[in-house]
Amino acid sequence: MAQSGTPPRALDTEAVHAGREDLAELGLHAAPIDLSTTYPSYDSRGEAARIDAFAADGAVDGGPPVYGRLGNPTVARFETALARLEGTESAVAFASGMAALTAVVLVRAAAGLRHVVAVRPLYGCSDHLLTAGLVGTEVTWVDRWDPPGKDPGTSPAQGIADAIRPDTGLVMVESPANPTLAELDLAAVADACGEVPLLADNTFATPVLQRPAESGARLVLHSATKYLGGHGDVLGGVVACDEELARRLRQVRFTTGGVLHPLAGYLLLRGLATLPVRVRAASATAAELARRLAADPRVTHVHYPRLGGAMVAFEVRGDPHEVIAGVRLITPAVSLGSIDSLIQHPASISHRVVDPADRRSSGVSDRLLRMSAGLEDVEDLWSDLDRALGRVSAPPAGAPRRERRAVGRGRTAAVN
Ligand code: PLP
Repeated sequence: MAQSGTPPRALDTEAVHAGREDLAELGLHAAPIDLSTTYPSYDSRGEAARIDAFAADGAVDGGPPVYGRLGNPTVARFETALARLEGTESAVAFASGMAALTAVVLVRAAAGLRHVVAVRPLYGCSDHLLTAGLVGTEVTWVDRWDPPGKDPGTSPAQGIADAIRPDTGLVMVESPANPTLAELDLAAVADACGEVPLLADNTFATPVLQRPAESGARLVLHSATKYLGGHGDVLGGVVACDEELARRLRQVRFTTGGVLHPLAGYLLLRGLATLPVRVRAASATAAELARRLAADPRVTHVHYPRLGGAMVAFEVRGDPHEVIAGVRLITPAVSLGSIDSLIQHPASISHRVVDPADRRSSGVSDRLLRMSAGLEDVEDLWSDLDRALGRVSAPPAGAPRRERRAVGRGRTAAVN
């Protein structure tokens, strides 16, 4: 499905058409779902040659995949489309975002490069995977911001460069980060990585707002469960990268078995078609909610990225559990990126597995709530949030407010 000679198309057009170019020729309108677990062939010599080629360098030809764990045509359509949206040569899909990250770490460890440099905060489970050394890696954490007592002016880029060792196989960052929405200058970080591949988790921004490969990230990871699927009904993960790394990732996927189900591949391809529209609409809502929260005396701190986006995080003056208990329209649930709005308390759920001291020192306060704006009407969302915030204790009269400042596109948010 390579499109050599095709003029570059806008992101919105790619979202609708990439991975589907052959459909009209096939006499189809919707992408077919191939649920085969195996592929019949009377040519076992040919099959042997194809398996040898795959084992040697992860090469896949255009023919039937031999076995479902080696590849799937429906999943391949999603991979083609996502690579096009992220502006990379290839993409490899997995059963979940965590399966995708595990495969990346294993690929680098298999090359003898077991050391990872990472910047907190990351999604709690990603943090845990690296911290616990579950797949045999060692991690050095670099602070994104200058914590009290540390020399002012120490930038994450410098910290990354300093942390890199001869056995460093990967640098991992999230920007905007889960859950604080803290941002990084990805080009500066990529520069600091030198020859070490930079993995940027782009789950929160999506290619609609940011394409990390253009800033020098060699691997772009998504929990496809979130915005790419967009409807809260499919688990998946994907890594967009160059073909050389994609081949290694396919080999690990074949051997470890973390494949994306074809039905999930179909749903993710369908989700991509509306990704730009959904992300833009939900981002406008999140920006407006951030503005109202920043002006609310029951809220002490609002986090909203300069980049924009459909996530907003905020700290409340009273008990955050009361806000969770008080919402009725917004769903109190972990995850994000769905058509409906979700809210959760990171210290209790998404970042529960992170050591509390590490959590707090990376800016994830116990009073922080993380909200994923959906496609509902903003006034309905605000009235739900307003009512839920009414359950937290009112601030004492004349209580001092934390400083806030205007950020990009006239939105108001606190400094991340
Ligand atoms: N990366 C980020 C930023 C996430 O928020 C998540 C899940 O919340 C993951 C990765 C893991 O993805 P999954 O839940 O699909 O395994």
